[in-house]
Amino acid sequence: MARPLRKVPNKVMAAVAIKCPTHMLHASPIAMSTLPPSTPPSPSTASTRTAWHSLDSATAVQRQGSHATHGLTPAEAAQRLATHGPNRLAQQGKRPVWLRLLLQFHNVLIYVMLVAAVVTAALGHWLDTGVLLGAVVINALIGFLQEGKAESSLDAIRRMLSLQATVLRGGVRTVVDAQTLVPGDVVLLASGDKVPADLRILHAKGLRANEAVLTGESLPCDKHAGAVAEDAPLGDRHGMLYSGTLVASGTATGLVVATGSATELGRISALLATVQSTTTPLLRQMARFSHWLALVIVGFVVLTFAIGVLWRGQPLAEMFMMAVALAASAIPEGLPALMTITLALGVRRMAQHKAIIRQLSAVETLGSVTVICSDKTGTLTCNEMTVQRVVTANQVYEVSGSGYRPEGGLHRSGHSATHNVALDDHPALPGITRAALLCNDAALHESDGSWVLTGDPTEGALLTLALKAGLDAPAEHARLPRTDAIPFESAHRFMATLHHEHTGQALVFVKGAPECVLDMCHAQHDRHHPAAPLDTDYWRRAANDCAARALRVLAIAVKTVPAQQQTLQFSDMQGGFTLLGLLGSMDPPRPEAMAAVAECHAAGIRVKMITGDHGETARAIGAQLGIGLGKPALTGAEIELLDDAALRHVVTDVDVFARASPEHKLRLVQALQANGEVVAMTGDGVNDAPALKRADVGVAMGKNGTEAAKDAAAMVLADDNFATLGHAVREGRGIYDNVRKFILFMLPTNGGESLIVFSAIAFGLVLPLTPAQVLWINLVTSSTLGVALAFEPTEGDVMRRRPRNPRQSLLSGLFVWRVVMVSVLMACAALGLFLWELGHGSSLETARTMAVSTVVLVEMFYLYNSRHVLHSVLSREGLLGNPKIPATIALCAVLQLAFVYTPWLQAVFGSTNLSAAEWLRVVLAGASVFAIAELEKAIQRWRMGRAAPAA
Ligand code: ATP
Repeated sequence: MARPLRKVPNKVMAAVAIKCPTHMLHASPIAMSTLPPSTPPSPSTASTRTAWHSLDSATAVQRQGSHATHGLTPAEAAQRLATHGPNRLAQQGKRPVWLRLLLQFHNVLIYVMLVAAVVTAALGHWLDTGVLLGAVVINALIGFLQEGKAESSLDAIRRMLSLQATVLRGGVRTVVDAQTLVPGDVVLLASGDKVPADLRILHAKGLRANEAVLTGESLPCDKHAGAVAEDAPLGDRHGMLYSGTLVASGTATGLVVATGSATELGRISALLATVQSTTTPLLRQMARFSHWLALVIVGFVVLTFAIGVLWRGQPLAEMFMMAVALAASAIPEGLPALMTITLALGVRRMAQHKAIIRQLSAVETLGSVTVICSDKTGTLTCNEMTVQRVVTANQVYEVSGSGYRPEGGLHRSGHSATHNVALDDHPALPGITRAALLCNDAALHESDGSWVLTGDPTEGALLTLALKAGLDAPAEHARLPRTDAIPFESAHRFMATLHHEHTGQALVFVKGAPECVLDMCHAQHDRHHPAAPLDTDYWRRAANDCAARALRVLAIAVKTVPAQQQTLQFSDMQGGFTLLGLLGSMDPPRPEAMAAVAECHAAGIRVKMITGDHGETARAIGAQLGIGLGKPALTGAEIELLDDAALRHVVTDVDVFARASPEHKLRLVQALQANGEVVAMTGDGVNDAPALKRADVGVAMGKNGTEAAKDAAAMVLADDNFATLGHAVREGRGIYDNVRKFILFMLPTNGGESLIVFSAIAFGLVLPLTPAQVLWINLVTSSTLGVALAFEPTEGDVMRRRPRNPRQSLLSGLFVWRVVMVSVLMACAALGLFLWELGHGSSLETARTMAVSTVVLVEMFYLYNSRHVLHSVLSREGLLGNPKIPATIALCAVLQLAFVYTPWLQAVFGSTNLSAAEWLRVVLAGASVFAIAELEKAIQRWRMGRAAPAA
């Protein structure tokens, strides 16, 4: 069975997007809302009624009023776009604005406040009713705006992943946004592409499509331009390509017959929509926690109310107000919304650094990754190949010059680079370089003084070699035109081409991995004989020698076939070739990847390299990168000999896997996971999808990756660079840190306030904070301050810590202790000052204003403490590292001054003017909580000794 392509050449990928269609993105799990059912496609759309598959392609083109070789004119396309609308499905992932606003009221605290508003109104406390209702509205509005901000951040990221399509407009190949496709457009597709609309195939070559998304059939099916019966089921309509499916191999030209919701995908979009995961484990854990906490608090409040009224004999109305204050102070209402914002902002930051998150949960998982399995070519290496060595049967040559610029030449190994050899004196060389030039799909051209490659870098290097050897490329192509080819695929590791000379002679050239090509050969070209017996040992030694120098090795061979042969089949590749020689190319490691590998190692993350390349090459490159130093590489063939248990054992020690195919990747992920590792795996090909899905974080390549890989991945690297992955791990850890810091900041405010109110009830004191004042603190000041922590830069030592245990609970012992400690400190400070003021003859208003201001000041100071969980903030970085902190503190100070001095806020909240001496006491209380919190961190650091950074 032939396999779909694992990797497509860059040339092809130029026409592919980094991207997936917006209409597929409703299945993208970064959307954060649950979806309403889809609307069925409009029955009036003519394209849904015509059985395009039963028409021959010429009729289809005519019916669409298009032209097979020119497509539509740009003006016609624009006009049709206005009629048919954009090629996307109705944004089903989005809830209408009114529903989003309404859902803000669906929350335990809001219910408590609404009940309280009704009761206060019944009791005739109109001012309290007004404050409560005002607070309900403000709370809903804040939630609504924050959610909107989070969604727009994620929308922007979704747009980065939108699909492009190559179309013929007025006879010119143009790359357009797939959303602008209209019925009648002629689209060009190549393997690895995602089909951007429903297409009637006009031409196809070796075309196979993976339609699993529509039919559930996981094997690719053959496609051609022929018509089928009108009643043929979807899976048998071979003349059609459907939107959202993938081109597994071959090329095609297709006529757009349906776009947007009129496509077959549009019909089943409701099914796809359900595939969505709407939140992350952390958000779920936190939402559950807040919900549970709110219920406990409501129960507790009811109990307190009962005790106060029945046991302490407090008046009903006063006790009710106390109960409302307690509920309002204890419920952490802003927490889930602000956590979402922290995550969304972090994800946006990652996208700016070229790591595009497709599943929000990947952000959290990244922080606990213990093993990264990476591809080699293009990810760890530059993917800029240069042939450095040519081995013939009698001689080894070195090649001078670097990059794709054809400057330099060949000289005998061990001789000076200035002594370039003349091809005529070395009869083996013209054959090798000609084969390298002709068995090649890449193209090189000079632009603004630099040489630009279109196509696969491995092949680009061969073109440069041929030019360095002095071949005239156009003349060679004219002399030996290509009749057919078997393109390169990672699965069979060779490429072959058939050529016909004008004299009638036919030649097949093959290039590929030495093991494969040697198996096809029975002879070798040497100095004395163009077809001497093959010395297999010599070639194997030579290949290993090249590989040990970190060179990627290709073998090149040729055979003559009967002149009448016009096509090339796999059966033609089984033997009869004459080996011309070996070519060794250098693909240098990316310097930034070396640093990133070292950083990952320091962060307790093992980096494993999985490559299709030769074992020795892989080992040598690995050594340069610091991967698998001094350890042997395991090959795909060896993996196949191991059962699952043995593989689990071996996988821990081996870091370099060579000659591995996508199936091996899947087994490796499974073995690592069985050992308890959290695995990030990179991939680019159609066949990598299962491994990417199985990995804890599947990472697809944005530039060279197929759409299939991107669909399966949780994250896309826009620049294919390992360093970007390393950076994403750092950001993932940073975002998680920020969420923790945020919780650590928010919970003590609720804790402190409820302790203040509860102590007043327990000791029969007058309430230090009224319900309205509690709402002021929670909704106005703490939410404003807390947002600043979402902008915290990632801490410097984040990559010197061990990976986070994914099973570790968010609320660790240290967390609970810190929350309790700060809550108690806050309560002591506010309650202490309140009682002291009352004891010294101040009015109740003054004492309460002091209590509110103390809580707010403690929050302001504690916001600084919260910047680092364990490290001191008494440093330049600690105090100035996040400019949003002083900015929000300043804003909050203005609000608090307004609370104290503005007459109408005084009227609403019962606050009053404070004197300078009173302010001094408030500031001192805040500063002492800051000092104690820093002291506690120092004690914790001392206790944990060198383990401190791990927290
Ligand atoms: P990875 O990207 O996973 O690190 P790789 O790029 O090293 O893998 P493949 O692209 O699968 O591996 O290539 C495997 C082998 O196939 C190479 O070592 C080389 O011998 C051969 N090969 C690579 N590209 C071509 C090509 N264009 N034509 C012929 N043979 C090739």
